[in-house]
Amino acid sequence: MQIPLLDLKAQYNSIKNEIDNAVIGVLESGQYVLGPNVKKLEDEIAAYCGVRFGIGVANGTDALMLCLAAHGVGPGDEVITSPYTFFASAEAVSQVGATPVFVDIDPRTYNLDVSQVEAKINRNTKAIIPVHIFGQMAKMDAVMELAYKHGLFVIEDACQAIGAEYKGQKAGSVGHAACFSFFPTKNLGGYGDGGMVVTNDPELADKIKLLRVHGSKPKYYHSVIGYNSRLDEIQAAVLRVKFKYIDKWNEERAIKAEKYNKLFKGCKVSVPFAIEDVKHVYHLYVISVPNRDEVAATLSSAEIASGIYYPVPLHRQKVYSYLGYGEGSLPVAENASKKTIAIPLYPDLTEEQQEIIADTVLSAVL
Ligand SMILES: *Cc1c(COP(=O)(O)O)cnc(C)c1O
Repeated sequence: MQIPLLDLKAQYNSIKNEIDNAVIGVLESGQYVLGPNVKKLEDEIAAYCGVRFGIGVANGTDALMLCLAAHGVGPGDEVITSPYTFFASAEAVSQVGATPVFVDIDPRTYNLDVSQVEAKINRNTKAIIPVHIFGQMAKMDAVMELAYKHGLFVIEDACQAIGAEYKGQKAGSVGHAACFSFFPTKNLGGYGDGGMVVTNDPELADKIKLLRVHGSKPKYYHSVIGYNSRLDEIQAAVLRVKFKYIDKWNEERAIKAEKYNKLFKGCKVSVPFAIEDVKHVYHLYVISVPNRDEVAATLSSAEIASGIYYPVPLHRQKVYSYLGYGEGSLPVAENASKKTIAIPLYPDLTEEQQEIIADTVLSAVL
């Protein structure tokens, strides 16, 4: 591909010395799992989000699963989430033995349509996982209002949204807990897997800290069955270097998104819709076009990478067929999965490349 969806090598080259020194520092330290870099990163990210605790874990999926497990969500319980997200948002619910309940999305933002949530709440409902999809926060004020009314636990799936804001509140600061992923392609990505839970709740934080190390405290004394879900020192050291740039990189993404918005103005391309009072961090720049598959093929022959997020909504995945959501049951999510396509967006993308990409899209769109 001449133009990748994301250029992680260019990013590495721009901060190579700092990264190399940070990694070598860890190699020489002799401490490789849950050491001082993890502790500092936990404090830095918690402070950035304006919450009390950060708990580094192995990945974003575990972050979600550990929040659910720590809150005691399990078999017989239901957790409401979006069908239009990466599989992990629902997978974590199934991993603890609970049942995901899918609610359709808003056709403009692709986030959970909060107005449809209340109808799905019953006495088995224990939690809601709003997903801040593509880098834009869900309408958290409405989610929290429902949660208080019905006594539900709220976990923000902020894996795509570090640095995003809604009504002046940062992603991660609104729910009872929030989860970040540091998978390499995320806005803040390591060179391997990583994740974090942030929360203001000291009991929840302690429980997750216990669960991530086999339920042991002190070491070799086990009070519960836990997991092995820890953040590595090398990843934490890398992430601490990159974290210094996150606001700058998010800002550059937003500038490039604006540029695309202008290039597609007046054309048959639906550009990302940012709601009022939101700071969108554009994890992905996702457009909607009537003939998505043709647009994808045209981009591919021009050697421009693109991505389909997501080709099959979660309620239509084979593994969830037992839940009985038929075709057409959540029509907005199903339609989005047929019409949307992500085009390249990353801080090092040039304006000239953006013009070529937009021209190529427009040459194919019906
Ligand atoms: C990436 C992602 C996850 C999972 O994170 P991993 O670190 O890959 O386990 C969960 N939810 C969403 C919305 C994601 O984008």
